[in-house]
Amino acid sequence: VQGFSGANVAVLGLGRSGLAAARALRAGAAIPVCWDDNPAAREAAEAEGFACRDLHKQGAFDDIATLIVSPGIAHLYPKPNPAVRAALDAGVPVDNDIGLFFRSLATPEWDNFERAPRVVAVTGSNGKSTTVALLHHILESAGKEVQMAGNIGRGVLDIDPPGEGGVVVLELSSYQTELARSLTPDVAVFTNLSADHLDRHAGLGGYFAAKRRLFAEGGPDRAVIGVDEEEGVFLAGQMSMGASDDRVIRVSSGRKLGGVGWNVFARKGFLSEYRKGRQAGSIDLREMTGLPGAHNHQNACAAYAAARTLGLAPRMIEGALETYPGLPHRSQPVADAGGVRYVNDSKATNVDSAVKALSAFKKVRWICGGLEKDGGLDALKGATGSVQKAYVIGREAAHFAVQLDVETEICGTMAVAVERAMADAQPGEVVLLAPAAASFDQYDSFETRGDDFIAEVTERLG
Ligand code: ADP
Repeated sequence: VQGFSGANVAVLGLGRSGLAAARALRAGAAIPVCWDDNPAAREAAEAEGFACRDLHKQGAFDDIATLIVSPGIAHLYPKPNPAVRAALDAGVPVDNDIGLFFRSLATPEWDNFERAPRVVAVTGSNGKSTTVALLHHILESAGKEVQMAGNIGRGVLDIDPPGEGGVVVLELSSYQTELARSLTPDVAVFTNLSADHLDRHAGLGGYFAAKRRLFAEGGPDRAVIGVDEEEGVFLAGQMSMGASDDRVIRVSSGRKLGGVGWNVFARKGFLSEYRKGRQAGSIDLREMTGLPGAHNHQNACAAYAAARTLGLAPRMIEGALETYPGLPHRSQPVADAGGVRYVNDSKATNVDSAVKALSAFKKVRWICGGLEKDGGLDALKGATGSVQKAYVIGREAAHFAVQLDVETEICGTMAVAVERAMADAQPGEVVLLAPAAASFDQYDSFETRGDDFIAEVTERLG
C-alpha cells in the first residue's frame, strides 16, 4: 500500500486481516503501530517485527496518520471500540483493509491500465457469497485469472498480485463498505435488501445508506442492481444516465423488465437478457442442480450480468452455470433416500433467506429455530405454503414455534429434529434445514450447525 511512506499507521486488531494490513503497510514503507487487547495476538505481531502500542492510552493517536480497523472491531454500533472513538475524536482518519486495497489500486503501480485488475464488488443482504462464488466459477471456466476475496476466500490484502487481465471478485458486508474510505470497484453488484442486521445499522435507512455508498457519484463503470425491492429500483434509477444507459444492468427474479436499458431477469426458470430492447441471451435454469429456487435464479442473473460486463458471451456463461457445484450450507444437497431429499441451508440465518429456501421446494419438512433475530418472524406468515410440518430446534424453541402458522413439533436439538422429520417424510418431500435464526444459542457458527445436520442425516441413513 503506497501513500503512507514514513508515516505511523495504527492497526487495531491483529487477526489475519490486521496482520495482512500491517504487512502491506510495511511493504509501502509506512510504519505500522499495532494493537490488540489480546496479548497472544500482540506477540504474534511482535514476532514479525511489528511495534505495538496501547491505543487506549491518552494521546496514543497524536502522531498517527490513519487508523486501520479490523473487521471484528466495532466502529459505530452497538458502540465504537474506545480506541476507534479516540481516533475519531482526535480527527485521525479511520479506514479498513478494503479502503487500503482500493487505495493501493489507485497508485502508480497500476498506472498502466491494461495491467490493473478488474475489481467486482458484491454487496446486498442475501446471496452475496453465492453470487461471488458463481461469478468466480464462470470466469475461471472462461480461462480468466480470478480470485475471490473479502468475506469469502482470502482477505483482500492477502491475494496474490493479479496478472494482466486478472479479475478480483470481492464480497463486502455493509460494515466493510461503511468504513472503507476508498471504494472504487469497476463493477458494483447489489443483490437485494432485507431487514437483516437492523440492530447494527440504526434501522433500514442506515443499512441501505451503507450499501448505497458503493454506487455514489463517480462510482463504478458498471453497476448490476437487483430491482426486486424499492431500494434497488431507487439505486438503479439514481445511477442511470438515461433510459438506454449501458452503465446499469437491472436484475430481477420474477419480473419481466422492459424498456430500452440493459436488463437480465429470470422467470419460470428461464433467464433472459435484453439490451436496447433486443433479446441478447436466454438460458434454461431449471435443470441446474447447483442453483435451485427463485432466489438462486436471482443470484444466477446477477453473476451472469457481472460476467457480461466483463465481456463474456452468453453461451460461455451458460456452460459454467451448468457445472456450478454450489457452496456448502446454501441449498446444499445432502442425500436422496427413498424418494426423500435432504437439503442443508444452514446459512438461512434470517427470515428472508429462509422464506426463499422454503419457496424453492414443493413439500417441505422444515427444520428451523435458533437464536431469533430482531424484526421477529412476521415475514414468515403466508410464506410457509410448502411446509408440511416444522421441527423446531433451539433453546427458545417453544417461543419460536408459537409464532409459526404451520403445524409444529418442538424438538430442541438437531438430533431429535432430524429423527422426527425423517420418520414423517413421504417420497417426493424435502427435509430442509433453513433455520430463519442465528445459530449461536447451540452452535459456534452456521457451519457447525449445518455440519451437525449432515452428520445426523448421514448417520441415520447408514
Ligand atoms: P450472503 O453471503 O449474502 O449471506 P449466501 O449466498 O451465503 O448470501 O446465502 C445466504 C442464504 O440466503 C442462503 O442460505 C439462502 O437460503 C439465502 N439466499 C441466497 N441467495 C438469496 C437471494 N438472492 N435472495 C434471498 N435469499 C437468498
